[in-house]
Amino acid sequence: ENVEAYQAALNKVRAELLGKHYPLVIDGERVDTPGRLTSTNPCDTCEVVGTTAKATVEDAERALQGAWKAFETWKRWEPDARARILLKAAAILGRRRLEACALMSLEVGKNYAEADVEVAEAIDFLEYYARSAMKYAGFGAAETTWYEGEENGMLYLPLGVGVSISPWNFPCAIFAGMLAAPIVAGNCVIAKPAEDSGMIAGFVVDILMEAGLPAGVLQFLPGVGEEVGEYLVTHARTRFITFTGSRGVGLHINEVAAKVQPGQRWIKKVILELGGKDAMIVDETADLDVAVTAAVQGAFGFNGQKCSAMSRLIVVDEVYDRVVNAFVERAGALKVGTGEENAQVTAVVNDEAFDKIGKYLEIGKGEAQLLLGGEAPGQNGGKRGYYVQPTIFGDVSPQARIAQEEIFGPVVSILRARDWEHALEIANSTQYGLTGGVCSNDRERLEQARQEFEVGNLYFNRKITGAIVGVQPFGGYNMSGTDSKAGGPDYLANFLQLKAVTERW
Ligand code: NAD
Repeated sequence: ENVEAYQAALNKVRAELLGKHYPLVIDGERVDTPGRLTSTNPCDTCEVVGTTAKATVEDAERALQGAWKAFETWKRWEPDARARILLKAAAILGRRRLEACALMSLEVGKNYAEADVEVAEAIDFLEYYARSAMKYAGFGAAETTWYEGEENGMLYLPLGVGVSISPWNFPCAIFAGMLAAPIVAGNCVIAKPAEDSGMIAGFVVDILMEAGLPAGVLQFLPGVGEEVGEYLVTHARTRFITFTGSRGVGLHINEVAAKVQPGQRWIKKVILELGGKDAMIVDETADLDVAVTAAVQGAFGFNGQKCSAMSRLIVVDEVYDRVVNAFVERAGALKVGTGEENAQVTAVVNDEAFDKIGKYLEIGKGEAQLLLGGEAPGQNGGKRGYYVQPTIFGDVSPQARIAQEEIFGPVVSILRARDWEHALEIANSTQYGLTGGVCSNDRERLEQARQEFEVGNLYFNRKITGAIVGVQPFGGYNMSGTDSKAGGPDYLANFLQLKAVTERW
């Protein structure tokens, strides 16, 4: 039933949104620019999906000034009034859920199953952060303490104007979540979506405007990261930066944002959610069928283009052959096709990703044993898209580049461990620490993993994946980020400052 409705939504989106142009939004006005960013369908590179305006540094300057002006009013709004706007936006997005899915299939090649989960996550973020806002509301949100005849109260205040820079792989949920949290906390936000997913971002912005967000509270600036993004993160009037994306760009932002600019009055707050090289361990006590299903789902969902994707499968020697054979067989049966067909594996997002993954396929062939796939037929494979075969390398050394570096495609490295202890040691041997998994029926080992597996999100006897808002706060350890825990009970605190007031009566 849903798939039929989705097909109808695809037709509607094709009729109404294909070729649509999304301008910037500054101070509540739609502003166009001579520059354009074009979105093409990764599964059919001949199809132009639409365009967005391309913001310049002059646009960024205007957006910053306007947002600080809007902040003067927005910060005085009651938190429940701010929250109501997010709740209304969530309801509108719920009504337009299938359209959002269809647009994602066309713009980034996401299949219906993955797109639908993502829109649900976007709605959850809006609703969850709306509810969280009340927790920090007003004087006395934190405890009041009497001490030597004085009253000590605490209140949470918004930071000011910040920049939200988001990736293309969760273009609806992460984009929406990263602006909703600071906004409902009373800040104003300049949202800079990824170059490849400006349309779905524009779609979300339209909904927030329809829900009644006042002018200037959300400035929408699609543009080039190295140009307008860099300008915003280094600007003296940017108070905070919330960034989700690759480790390289995140570390660069962390560095340049630390430099105090002339006239700057604060230390910028920088929140980073970066990549992963996520591992799942399978030991000899595991239910191997459960483990193999978890491995296939965790590795190949959205073609492995998830920060949370399982890209290292660590198997203890005793069950290595059995797990590897079953995993290769199951992965080899995955259906490759377009997002619109709801294929299990679709095309990767753009030519840059396609070339990068292709390079890693060659590196892998030199470092390890190729067990499945290994080709990136792309447009020459008879389909006009950036197609990469689901690929598995076996007996990969823990120090190999394909075991250490984030590939961000349908490519898995399998590593052989002597025993459980060795497996855990290998799992912790990268700089990343986002998600991890263990398939085992040994309670002691699971307890050890609970304490010692260095990841922000750990999963036992199931697939490793992203998280459910309000249930599994999401964010990584080590080089995977600043552990700010999106969708968690304290996430809004990232965008607030606590003031303690002591009063003698
Ligand atoms: P990316 O780092 O290439 O780009 C992310 C954003 O940064 C884009 O909007 C881009 O325009 C902008 N940008 C680029 N250079 C910039 C600069 N110099 N200054 C300011 N902004 C700049 O990442 P991507 O390819 O869009 O996304 C994939 C990456 O994101 C992967 O590494 C993935 O693991 C990571 N990711 C992490 C999480 C998480 O929650 N930890 C979630 C999703 C994706």
